[in-house]
Amino acid sequence: MEPLNAEKILTIAIKKYHPRLALAASFGAPEGMVLLDMMHRIEPGARVFVLDTGRLHPATHDLIDRVRDRYGKAVEVVFPRAAEVEYMVGEHGMNLFYKSVESRKHCCRIRKVEPLRRYFADLDAYVSGLRRDQNLNRQSTPKLEMDVGNGGLLKFNPLADWSRDRVMDYVGEHRVPVNSLHAKGFPSVGCEPCSRAVRPGEDERSGRWWWESESQKECGIHTPDDQEGGLGI
Ligand code: SF4
Repeated sequence: MEPLNAEKILTIAIKKYHPRLALAASFGAPEGMVLLDMMHRIEPGARVFVLDTGRLHPATHDLIDRVRDRYGKAVEVVFPRAAEVEYMVGEHGMNLFYKSVESRKHCCRIRKVEPLRRYFADLDAYVSGLRRDQNLNRQSTPKLEMDVGNGGLLKFNPLADWSRDRVMDYVGEHRVPVNSLHAKGFPSVGCEPCSRAVRPGEDERSGRWWWESESQKECGIHTPDDQEGGLGI
């Protein structure tokens, strides 16, 4: 896949795996919206899903509805199990993630990892918006890999060799809807209590779990050895 451009990779992925292929979009990063736009042009029925942790920014919900209006596309919204969230909050409090890395990972596991794996059970492959220059942890991202930690699905990363500028150029050229918080200093919008704006020159993902060290931040979905980690989406 390495020499192929993003559109070609998506065309191959859709041809081979649709409808057992879906785009994993956070609706909090422009990369996912670029991929959504590309996939929609190739196959209007291409699937896209988002994990609604119950702690998302209102701006992210707003973008989900704007995408529905713009593309006429039913975004698949995946929620955590209510009973598990109720138990976690009852045991550890609403904002347990600030107490320790373990508590944060526990919250991510209940609100993200479990729903993701439940959703993945009906897929053979998925598409992610990872880019190599987002941070040090992602420098070796291949354009195609097997996601051993999430059920052995094939994972396509068509934008692996794109820069942030190239992503934003595509957004401008194709008038792709993006999260309104990007204009307020959020390069990456996660859960409301766990993401904040970054200063110019800071790592794109430095606003996520900003109270933790960089080495602790990467996510369960993208690092199979970190089964309890927060997801990058
Ligand atoms: S990002 Fe924060 S609120 Fe969201 S699931 Fe992880 S710890 Fe919980």
